[in-house]
Amino acid sequence: MPEGKIVKALAGFYYVLDGDRFVQCRGRGLFRKNKITPLVGDEVIYQADNDLEGTILEVMPRKNELVRPPISNVDQAILVFSAIEPAFSTLLLDRFLVLVEANSIEPVICISKTDLISNPAQREEILSFAADYKEAGYQVFQTSTESMDGIASLGPLFDNKISVFAGQSGVGKSSLLNAIKPDLALKTDDISSHLGRGKHTTRHVELITIDNGLVADTPGFSSLDFTDIEAQDLSQCFPEMRERAGDCKFRGCTHVSEPKCAVKAAVDSGEIKDYRYEHYLSFLEEIKDRKPRY
Ligand code: GDP
Ligand code: ZN
Repeated sequence: MPEGKIVKALAGFYYVLDGDRFVQCRGRGLFRKNKITPLVGDEVIYQADNDLEGTILEVMPRKNELVRPPISNVDQAILVFSAIEPAFSTLLLDRFLVLVEANSIEPVICISKTDLISNPAQREEILSFAADYKEAGYQVFQTSTESMDGIASLGPLFDNKISVFAGQSGVGKSSLLNAIKPDLALKTDDISSHLGRGKHTTRHVELITIDNGLVADTPGFSSLDFTDIEAQDLSQCFPEMRERAGDCKFRGCTHVSEPKCAVKAAVDSGEIKDYRYEHYLSFLEEIKDRKPRY
């Protein structure tokens, strides 16, 4: 039986990409009985009725599942944060990073609109944040869709993966996608207008091919609360803490006030940045309270 990946769902049809062929498939009644709704991103086994049409027989187990937009098997999230307009916020970036890590998705940081940096102090500040996040273990890119600096370096990132863009409205997500795939002609502000829609509106998401990769046309992580994260798992979502937690004296150390904590030692020595640790503590409180603070 042929296999493929659902790249679009519309009006009861699932569009399955199999090699370079799109097959318009129907789900079988079975899905409704078993309460499995096929999602964009799903790997499926289908039966081909002819070259263009088929029926989905089976949905393969999912690696992960985002709710808004509904999409499965996301490998990578490109977190777009503008250098300015809106201002670069490490607090918001850390929130996105935690949510991405908690979903077993590889985060990539993209600092956008670098052409708007207008003085050496600003440049210095952005470079120092970029260095901090690289040091913490993340991939960091700097781009401008105005000068096209850094755009080509993003290309290979997409190969053989399902990626989503994420980040605040106005940071340049649609502009980036357009710059990477100029024939797409996605209207600027299109992506963000999806974000602005009411919670209960069904959002259509489509995977767009970029060379050997697939990218969602709608940004991920529109909900930024920590509902699904447990306090004891939070430090696992900070790579520089994850890496050191094994050296803490106590198993299950929360790195708050336990003695002989390797994470706190690294904060004291400056190997872990103060602001990252402070964000960790603030997220931990939030999870314990289970009340979003922002
Ligand atoms: P989105 O909401 O994240 O999808 O952001 P958009 O792509 O719609 O961009 C928001 C605004 O920022 C638009 O007016 C873009 O023209 C502008 N913009 C996006 N990228 C850049 C950039 O690299 N440099 C400059 N100067 N402006 C940009
Ligand atoms: Zn510890």
